[in-house]
Amino acid sequence: ETNTNKHYLVVLGAAESGIGAAILAKRKGYTVFVSDGSTIKPHYKKELIDNNIEFEEGTHTEAKILAANEVVKSPGIPEKNAMVKKIREKGIGIISEIELAYRFKGDSKIIAITGSNGKSTCTSLIYHICKTAGLDCALVGNIGYSFAKQIAEEPKEIYVAEISSFQLDDIQHFRADIGILLNITEDHLDRYDYKFENYINSKFNLIRNKQSTDYFIYCKDDEVTMQYLSNHILPTNSMPFSMNQELQNGAWIIGDQMMIKALDEKFEMSIYDFALKGKHNQYNTMAAGIASVILNIRKEKIREAVTTFKNLEHRMEHVADVRGIEFINDSKATNVNSTWYALESLEKPTILILGGVDKGNDYTILEELVKTKVKAIVCLGIDNTKIHAAFGAMVPVIIDTDSAALAVEESFKLAAKGDAVLLSPACASFDLFKNYEDRGTQFKEAVKAL
Ligand code: ADP
Repeated sequence: ETNTNKHYLVVLGAAESGIGAAILAKRKGYTVFVSDGSTIKPHYKKELIDNNIEFEEGTHTEAKILAANEVVKSPGIPEKNAMVKKIREKGIGIISEIELAYRFKGDSKIIAITGSNGKSTCTSLIYHICKTAGLDCALVGNIGYSFAKQIAEEPKEIYVAEISSFQLDDIQHFRADIGILLNITEDHLDRYDYKFENYINSKFNLIRNKQSTDYFIYCKDDEVTMQYLSNHILPTNSMPFSMNQELQNGAWIIGDQMMIKALDEKFEMSIYDFALKGKHNQYNTMAAGIASVILNIRKEKIREAVTTFKNLEHRMEHVADVRGIEFINDSKATNVNSTWYALESLEKPTILILGGVDKGNDYTILEELVKTKVKAIVCLGIDNTKIHAAFGAMVPVIIDTDSAALAVEESFKLAAKGDAVLLSPACASFDLFKNYEDRGTQFKEAVKAL
């Protein structure tokens, strides 16, 4: 459809997805220019040079950008960015990297996973099931490897893609053969004019271009999802999952059994055999299970994969038992909802390490669990006033620390044999750490030093 040589594509932002988009566009014959307002990391710069792609850093040259036929905007760049505004004013089309990837995916299938929480876990689990079944597949998207780059460098038959709302904001034709929406809770509102509704609509872009033969997997226990669906016509091939009710099709849990019914297939498995523990992971496993049945993967393979899956680092990761005290790293829990699920899944009396950069947190949903399970709270952040205010009256001990080492040391002192020390901060990490990985890694090192 497009004469690629004459198509001048500008890529804004030169991190994982921007670089991937630039490489794919270049290989497909587009004229490409990459512009990053700050400095580009050396290994990304090398990729640009190796691929003969023109770029600039530390500035946006207006004349070069506004001459574009089309712009790919990286997910990290907000609408209020001055250059984005100018591009919009000039009427130049802005797409996201997944839209570009979609344009060149050929006959391959896309399984797209989105939601406020559980994306990476569910995406990795589906990928693991596909691999176990011997399918020709790749793990792409938000999880750390550009979808576009994968298509440019090593096309596959199936792409298992973690998709964020930012990537769904700027799609045109993108659709998934199987789209999964895990849940919707308030997040990233700063990017959506502080309107929850805008964020919800962005998530539902997942099925905006859905064809009747595509599948849509969603959570029947999720209030926000159900509210939205009740105001819209339920798409064909919709498959719900629930923990609270038996369903006509989709997945549900009765007692300790997960049941899946999809496409005349039935699948049953004990939740005790899931490698992933906790209620939240039962949701993730149900969603992954439905997708696997739709993909026609043999039951033994699904069972094998669900039993052997190893979860990603920093997500309810068992670190060590030290003198009968279990240390768990859930540094990836950067919002209150994640911490709720983390606490919910624990049986032991818990020392909870909480805090960091607050994203407008409302801690009330944690109250019940904190009252029944938490012995002490160790704050790990620069400003912990909100945590003291929220829990001061219900937890006997709340102390402040400002390093992972100190937090671990103090928690260890407070804990008794049979307790758990849980790092599940409910906050972003930027006040004291580079990112959540850095926070989790420092926590683990401190535990190992005990
Ligand atoms: P994402 O990629 O969406 O950020 P992850 O899979 O990395 O999500 O999980 C982040 C945290 O969210 C986990 O540590 C866990 O505490 C919580 N979580 C995981 N799955 C779910 C779910 N289905 N519902 C609610 N919380 C979840």
